[in-house]
Amino acid sequence: MLMTGKEYIESLRKLNTRVYMFGERVDNWVDHPIIRPSINSVAATYDLAQEDEYKDIMTAKSNITGKIVNRFTHLHQSTEDLKNKVKMQRLLGQKTASCFQRCVGMDAFNAVYSTTFEVDEKYGTSYHKNFIEYLKHVQENDLTVDGAMTDPKGDRGLAPHAQKDPDLYLRIVERREDGIVVRGAKAHQTGSINSHEHIIMPTIAMGEADKDYAVSFACESDVEGLYMIYGRQSCDTRKMEKDNDIDVGNKKFGGQEALVVFDNVFIPNNRIFLCGEYDFAGMMVERFAGYHRQSYGGCKVGVGDVIIGAAALAAEYNGADKASHIKDKLIEMTHLNETLFSCGIACSAEGCPTKAGNYQIDLLLANVCKQNVTRFPYEIGRLAEDIAGGLMVTMPSESDFKSDTIVGSNGETLGDICNKYFAGSDKASTEERQRILRFLENVCLGTAAVGYRTESMHGAGSPQAQRIMISRQGNIQGKKEMAKELAGIKK
Ligand SMILES: Cc1cc2nc3c(=O)[nH]c(=O)nc-3n(C[C@H](O)[C@H](O)[C@H](O)COP(=O)(O)OP(=O)(O)OC[C@H]3O[C@@H](n4cnc5c(N)ncnc54)[C@H](O)[C@@H]3O)c2cc1C
Repeated sequence: MLMTGKEYIESLRKLNTRVYMFGERVDNWVDHPIIRPSINSVAATYDLAQEDEYKDIMTAKSNITGKIVNRFTHLHQSTEDLKNKVKMQRLLGQKTASCFQRCVGMDAFNAVYSTTFEVDEKYGTSYHKNFIEYLKHVQENDLTVDGAMTDPKGDRGLAPHAQKDPDLYLRIVERREDGIVVRGAKAHQTGSINSHEHIIMPTIAMGEADKDYAVSFACESDVEGLYMIYGRQSCDTRKMEKDNDIDVGNKKFGGQEALVVFDNVFIPNNRIFLCGEYDFAGMMVERFAGYHRQSYGGCKVGVGDVIIGAAALAAEYNGADKASHIKDKLIEMTHLNETLFSCGIACSAEGCPTKAGNYQIDLLLANVCKQNVTRFPYEIGRLAEDIAGGLMVTMPSESDFKSDTIVGSNGETLGDICNKYFAGSDKASTEERQRILRFLENVCLGTAAVGYRTESMHGAGSPQAQRIMISRQGNIQGKKEMAKELAGIKK
């Protein structure tokens, strides 16, 4: 059953999710002005799947049930599926100019599916069967699932078992006949509050001493012992201002991250996908990270499309759009953005089947994709700020533009003065100029900058994590052999 956006929002109300923000529990978090835009972004993943125009990229035929499912719950069956995933993410970036949060779950499904197959093959466990049953439940109910990998990690120089506080990596604290009890937390969790469920994976490759930390499972958002603390974003309280509209920049959509705490949570056996097989933690991490690094070649490109459009409008509203350097800067932004898309498509086109049968991206190209994502959005943002001009960060509030307070010697109001001095070319009203500059402020420096900038840097792993993978996959030895052959070197 495919849900509509409205049905998705209503389904969240049925959960008893524990959410904390600004020091207090938030009971009606679904309608909270700071949280709601991020829920609207996830709702777009449901609404677009209902539209005929987007059916091919937003939905797919499940290999498990044979039914049509939302692509966000699908196991990729071909390189075509992998490419469609990237195109779907670009589309959603264009429609929301935000992080729409549902990708992490999709990337976790694909990584856990193939890894559990190989764990079972080695150890005779039944994790793959557990996972297939779980995914059936997700697909049939069209659920949003948080893909949770990152632990708080404490001292980065120490392994999980060596931390002063053992909870700094999520771990098994009790093994029972019917399941396990886990304790710890997952940090920076995208869309976790807006998710029906969570799928947990280890953060790093592990040794035997970290056995209790090598754990993967699924649980509901309102399972006993689980609660979340909302991560605040730059300029978030603008959303709390009365009659806010223009100053929020992107009124309808936003992204979300939270700390998810597991305070002795019981996980039944049928929802466990890894439980102590530490030698497979690295495989799960590598595969999830690979899929997630591919994802950024779609979602950030969609947001980039909107930023390029906004910068072009800002130039037009300033009367600077005919200048050759402005045209050239827009070309440069487009070049950078399409390079990211090319990487997302390339690692998909070069994908191959896993032992379990679902398709995996080319890992080297996916890591190159994400490495570029740690840089190019910053340059695109820099060029957008260049084109926008300083007013993007010095403009009075929308209340000043709307104010009737008399300030001028000829009876001009505050609103009259703002509208007079912030007018641009005749192509746009002052309000239109205000709107486009506030939008750019939002994606470059405000709430959406979390998703466009810092998530581009650290999401799916900091830059060095990709460089390690590139060094592993780059085959320098093979390249040396090529050079030797051509240079006539025998040994
Ligand atoms: C907006 C956003 C959304 C995210 N969403 C999710 C999500 O949905 N799910 C999820 O699981 N995770 C998510 N993440 C987490 C993301 O994967 C991490 O931020 C990333 O792996 C980096 O970890 P960290 O933030 O703890 O930084 P740190 O680990 O503190 O890294 C900071 C710097 O220290 C370096 N460093 C760290 N450890 C070492 C070491 N041992 N040796 C040498 N150098 C080191 C890093 O390379 C980096 O340069 C998200 C992050 C962001 C910012």
